[in-house]
Amino acid sequence: MIAVLEKSASLKTKADIVRFLEQSGFRVQVSETPEGSFVSVVGEGAETVADALRDMRGVAELRPDAPAYPLVSRAHKPDATRVKVEDVVIGGRELVVMAGPCSVESREQILAAADAVRAAGARVLRGGAFKPRSSPYSFQGLGKQGLELLAEARDRTGLKVVTEVVAPEDVDLVAEYADVLQIGARNMHNYRLLSAVGMQPRPVLLKRGMMSTVDEMLLAAEYVVAGGNPRVILCERGIRTFETSSRNTLDLCAVPILKERTHLPVIVDPSHAAGRREWVPALARAAVAAGADGLIVEVHPDPPNAASDGRQSLAPGAFVDLMGDLGSVAAAVGRSLDSAEP
Ligand code: PEP
Ligand code: MN
Repeated sequence: MIAVLEKSASLKTKADIVRFLEQSGFRVQVSETPEGSFVSVVGEGAETVADALRDMRGVAELRPDAPAYPLVSRAHKPDATRVKVEDVVIGGRELVVMAGPCSVESREQILAAADAVRAAGARVLRGGAFKPRSSPYSFQGLGKQGLELLAEARDRTGLKVVTEVVAPEDVDLVAEYADVLQIGARNMHNYRLLSAVGMQPRPVLLKRGMMSTVDEMLLAAEYVVAGGNPRVILCERGIRTFETSSRNTLDLCAVPILKERTHLPVIVDPSHAAGRREWVPALARAAVAAGADGLIVEVHPDPPNAASDGRQSLAPGAFVDLMGDLGSVAAAVGRSLDSAEP
């Protein structure tokens, strides 16, 4: 439920409304927009206070048809949220590219990958230390050692680090090393994990579940924000459909739809959608043209010998070419690429 306030409502009147709602057991989000002030009542059972709220001084109108995800809804916060990772800003005019291997395999591998993606202009290094693999017999990642290697790569290159956390009990450890915590597609519905990353201070990269709708993704984001962490970046990475030619079907429709429904930044992962490196550049260019705020791309110094997802990983040379193309596409849609100075 949203209370639309009268334009003349004073600060004290607003404070009275907020206090009433909080004392009634609801969370409240106040949005100041050019159209006026809106007070969103967050929590179940808001209709029980509707009559009292409607009668309060300063309330012009009640809108009961509020979205199920008030904290992330654009209806409640029309301005785009910019997620800052120190000097890297996701959600502004400049596009941010995150790149690196699927998993951290060795010191040599992650440092070579970091040097290569840094030189090509990426701002954030990706690499899984904890890998949620479809088979229990596949490489599961180096764990804490992988996190230490990522931190070393950050110190060496100045790149920020994004890495996946797969279990609530690992959140503190991963947050100690990472600049951004990734929630993978397989965990988008892991509500205890979502709440746990909501209660720590690092930004969260939330990937869309492979069988999740856009609204389910927004509800997952709502968990993180409701936990206390407003710094969430959404990531479309392809969904499972009847089509088996590609690994997943990249749902580019989701980009403008998400932009309409939420104020959170949206990036695209062309690698896990394509499943094949040959198709990654086309999807990456299309994502930028569709309005994505950035990309996360798998790049490996030696793709044929990667421990995971080698088939979809770009070699460094192909990534350099892609970054050049992305600059042109970005310019065509009124954006630019935020590149580290090589
Ligand atoms: C990954 O980023 O390597 C990964 C496992 O992605 P997803 O969760 O989208 O499958
Ligand atoms: Mn991968």
